[in-house]
Formats: sequence, C-alpha cells, structure tokens
Amino acid sequence: MSEPLFLCNYMAKIFHAQGQSAISLEKRRLTLLKSLIPPQGAIRASYVRQFVTCGKKNCRCQRGHKHGPFHYLVQCLGTGKVRKFLLKTPEARKQARAGVSAYTEYQGRLEELSQINTELLRRSTQSSAPKAKLNG
Ligand SMILES: [Zn+2]
Repeated sequence: MSEPLFLCNYMAKIFHAQGQSAISLEKRRLTLLKSLIPPQGAIRASYVRQFVTCGKKNCRCQRGHKHGPFHYLVQCLGTGKVRKFLLKTPEARKQARAGVSAYTEYQGRLEELSQINTELLRRSTQSSAPKAKLNG
C-alpha cells in the first residue's frame, strides 16, 4: 500500500492575553483551572481517512478506483517517528474520534492557561515602568 507522508508540527492558537486587564485574566485563569480535568479517553493523534492503491498491476485501484476508505489514528512521537493504527470497527472509529476531540479541547484550554500565566508573569516582571500599578 502507498504510504503518505505525515508531518509533525504544533501551532498554538493565540489567545491575545496581552490586551486584557489583570482582573479578567485572573478570572479566565480560574475558570480554566476548574475545567482542566484530564479527559479519561484523551488521545493525542490525528484521525485520518484514506483511499489507497495496493500495488497489484491489474487492480482497479491502478485505474483510479482506490481501496477504502480506511480510517487510522496517526500519532507523531518525534521527528520521523510516527505510529499509525488502523481503526477496524465503527466502535473503534467512534472512540478514536471522541478521544482525539477530547484531547484537542483539553490541550486548547491548557494552552490558553499557559498564555495567561505567561502574560501575568511578563507583567509582574516588567521593570521598565516602576511606578505603573497593575490593575487587580
Ligand atoms: Zn488495488
């Protein structure tokens, strides 16, 4: 079967914490902390649906009627290290989609918390304006 290329990369969503008051950042921070309960079925992976060619010379897939769709979980473990896992049953596919979605949502909240903490730290360590009072 033809193997596609999977790239590992991470792009953080930017939450624009810099434009908010310290009070609203603290409020949002508390809300995030309360919601950050690790989801039990969390899966860090991509859910991938593919049609493939098999390599047999006279197969219909060589004329464009590819086999599939096949459903996979693709997990990047490091540069060049990818774990790919075929999801054979509808139940496995459902569980995989739910796990990926739960992880992504959790990760997003954790990322927002990280950006808020970074912004609060940045403000608390700013020494260029010693008389400036932080709100909150
Ligand atoms: Zn084929």
